[in-house]
Amino acid sequence: MCLSLCGSRHHPIACIVPPYMLRVLVLRGEPKIADMARTLLKQTEKLRDERAELTRAGLPPAQPLSGAFAATAVSPAEGLCCPDRRIHDGQHRAALPGRLVRSEGEGPTGIPDADTAYDAAGQVFSLFAEEYGRNSLDGEGMPLTATVHHRRDYNNAFWNGEQMAYGTGDGKVFRTFLELSVIGHEMAHGVIQFSGGLIYENQSGALNESIADVFGALSQQRALGQEIHKADWLIGRGILGPGINGTALRSMKAPGTAYSDSMLGQDPQPWHMDHFVTTTDDNGGVHINSGIPNHAFYLFCSYLGGRSWELPGRIWYRALQTLNNPMASFSDWADQTMDSAIELAGRGSIETVMLRRAWKLVGIAI
Ligand SMILES: [Zn+2]
Repeated sequence: MCLSLCGSRHHPIACIVPPYMLRVLVLRGEPKIADMARTLLKQTEKLRDERAELTRAGLPPAQPLSGAFAATAVSPAEGLCCPDRRIHDGQHRAALPGRLVRSEGEGPTGIPDADTAYDAAGQVFSLFAEEYGRNSLDGEGMPLTATVHHRRDYNNAFWNGEQMAYGTGDGKVFRTFLELSVIGHEMAHGVIQFSGGLIYENQSGALNESIADVFGALSQQRALGQEIHKADWLIGRGILGPGINGTALRSMKAPGTAYSDSMLGQDPQPWHMDHFVTTTDDNGGVHINSGIPNHAFYLFCSYLGGRSWELPGRIWYRALQTLNNPMASFSDWADQTMDSAIELAGRGSIETVMLRRAWKLVGIAI
């Protein structure tokens, strides 16, 4: 996911690859890779400017959902049915959305990336619809627009406020971005935006990143039918290039251990408030400090066992719908999850005890 380079604080262009990874590549990469990273940094700055232009042109800001929120419902809401997927082939050019290659209900295109994006968008839609009663990213059935093959050898993926776009990677640093936890992450940025938003800097920005990771991981675990103790809790497993020493972009189970590479550096994520990183880079460390709430969610799930997308996911989703504070701190968010847990599992329940324990273990008292 991108940093400040990827958008304004209110309208982030939420990319999967953080700018600090690109800056390390500029410093440490061989000349061709350093050039790639330099170009990517410039392109993300341009994206930010284009997004700011859209905003000035009157793009409506994110609004809280007006519809009723089904706090405990697991079944789909009335009238909620099917996604409206629109997958485009960017043909390695910069223009979005590109050529429409697969609309909802159409059969496979034979373009593997387009078909992967189509299937994955369906999995993420299904998570939000069937588990939380939400009709698409905006709650009102908006089309799921995505572009594959965005630019040539593009080492990033992003949600730009209106659609998802995925590069192919250069085959060296990244081999693909079409991986379900990454796709779920990008789509969850849309859900967050249309749920009232969390300002993309400092702690609220790290919460934005963390909640996107949570629903990315849940999309994948649900699609695989994987119980909590069987899951790897990695974001972007297998997307790093063959020569990179690492397994993923981030680990919710063990933040800071996803990669350690001579070219990419060390995964910088902390898991405890004692190691909270104060920085002006990365919009105030939004992709760094997200490791702390990520780990709290993992701990909560691991205490409960079972399926992460059921009660834990419902608690996080309800907290997002009821937050009403775009500048929430980690502590505010922890309180909100506790309110949701009380609502869904009952005051004094084992679930609320475990949730308090999880937050305490990462250094946040509630
Ligand atoms: Zn992100």
